[in-house]
Amino acid sequence: MVILCGKSVSDDICIGRLVFYHREERRVERTQAADKERELQRFERAREEAAKQLHMLYEKAVQTVGAAEAAIFEAHGLMLEDTEFVGGVRNMINEQSVNAEYAVKTAGNNIAQRLLAIEDSYIRERAQDVQSVAGYILQALTGEKASEAVWEEPCIVAADDLTPKETVCLPPDKVLGFVIRKGSVYSHTAIFARGLGIPAVMEIGEELSEEYDGLPAVIDGFTGTVYIEPDVPTLLTMQEKKRQCMLRRERLYSLKGKGDITGDGRSVRVFANAGSLAEVDAACDNDAGGIGLFRSELLYLGRESAPDEEEQFLVYRQILEKMRGREVVIRTMDIGADKQVSYLGLGREDNPALGLRAIRIGLQNPELLKTQLRALYRAGRYGRLSVMYPMITSVEEIDRLRELERQAREELLRQRIPFEGKLPTGIMIETPAAALISDELAKKVDFFSVGTNDLTQYTLAVDRQNAALCEFRNPHHRAVLKMIEMTAENAHAAGIRIGICGELAGDFSMTEDFIRMGIDELSVPAGMILPLRERIREIC
Ligand code: PEP
Ligand code: MG
Repeated sequence: MVILCGKSVSDDICIGRLVFYHREERRVERTQAADKERELQRFERAREEAAKQLHMLYEKAVQTVGAAEAAIFEAHGLMLEDTEFVGGVRNMINEQSVNAEYAVKTAGNNIAQRLLAIEDSYIRERAQDVQSVAGYILQALTGEKASEAVWEEPCIVAADDLTPKETVCLPPDKVLGFVIRKGSVYSHTAIFARGLGIPAVMEIGEELSEEYDGLPAVIDGFTGTVYIEPDVPTLLTMQEKKRQCMLRRERLYSLKGKGDITGDGRSVRVFANAGSLAEVDAACDNDAGGIGLFRSELLYLGRESAPDEEEQFLVYRQILEKMRGREVVIRTMDIGADKQVSYLGLGREDNPALGLRAIRIGLQNPELLKTQLRALYRAGRYGRLSVMYPMITSVEEIDRLRELERQAREELLRQRIPFEGKLPTGIMIETPAAALISDELAKKVDFFSVGTNDLTQYTLAVDRQNAALCEFRNPHHRAVLKMIEMTAENAHAAGIRIGICGELAGDFSMTEDFIRMGIDELSVPAGMILPLRERIREIC
């Protein structure tokens, strides 16, 4: 038996034969174009053809994995319009008189290389998206059809990596799970695996040898372990674990539509954290009471310039429409620290976590934050929207933010642009300063939400990005819990509600304590909503 370890993306077990998926590499030659106009036209026609194909793939993915995961094909459709990519291809054809195929491949590779150089693994994953989009256009240009994988019996698919198209085109009834050498937990294979509810282990590395092709295997998605040629005791243990897992899933599904109420009648709002439209869909699919934290900064990452007001308005409006009257808390951009963007020219900092971050950037660049506020006020007409500010440390900051809010509303009024001006506003409690003066802050805002990830980092002086500090990071530390309890008391004394949206909200060993402290809302990743509901209903 060989045991391989990677990162798991879905809690499930599968047992079957391992089969390697091989991609046929498309070779693209550089040739001199005799007629530049003709190459430009070929590119435009191929782009249209790719858009049609993406629409078909979207429809197919909606059927197999659901609307949330299918959204990637919509995103790829939008990338066909991306000015950097399209402009890059046109420039190459115009300036270097190259064939359209070569221009598409090179422009796609250039953008992908730039994204790969960024440290954030979520952004690096977007490099694959750009290459996928180039691939659709290349296929339309060459007219080649990608060969489809066919297997007689359901199997565990092993690969270096898979594109969204490859993943969705695999026959779902023939795929038991995925074992991937490179793809990260943010990859679309991972997202689809979650959507399909099948186990997948990513980032296995080179130890996943082709010698294992055709051998029996087991994926334990709970631990991220893959057993090749499992021995009998392992097989029996895994079979039992799988049976338990199926029973649990049925139990969780039966909780949809039920209340988040303890056995002795105390209720807590169970909301979802999200950072994309796909995650909002997942929140709906999992019966979230609302969105407790939408990380709007994700709209600002991995691009050349900040999203403008119109782009933001359209995204916020879609979120509200998807949530159909349920509350949505959108946090203003929490850029800085581990979420860096190049276009703001913020410069290098020795201590980015203690640096120019979140509302500090907004207060120093008021136009940037005002653009976001204007988009939020405009979107507020389409649902129940609340605005939340990150990294607050003082009452003065709130006063300055109020002044920016006033200016944003006044501008919209003057320009006769319709908006909803009375949005509830809250703040994140994620610095010890905010927790310690929460009695004063509570008089200024409509709600609190505790960001335990940062509150732990700043209280214990433990950098959350530094894996070497694992043993010192203890979100159960009395100092952190005391601050949460004290903040809850201050919130309630002022008549406002308090939620938790950091990782600790999903720590079931703390659920009972949080309810005892009077926490009104727990906001967790979509997949944790039903397990948390189950936990709450067990408490009596
Ligand atoms: C937190 O700090 O706990 C939080 C929810 O915000 P983020 O993880 O996005 O910093
Ligand atoms: Mg935070």
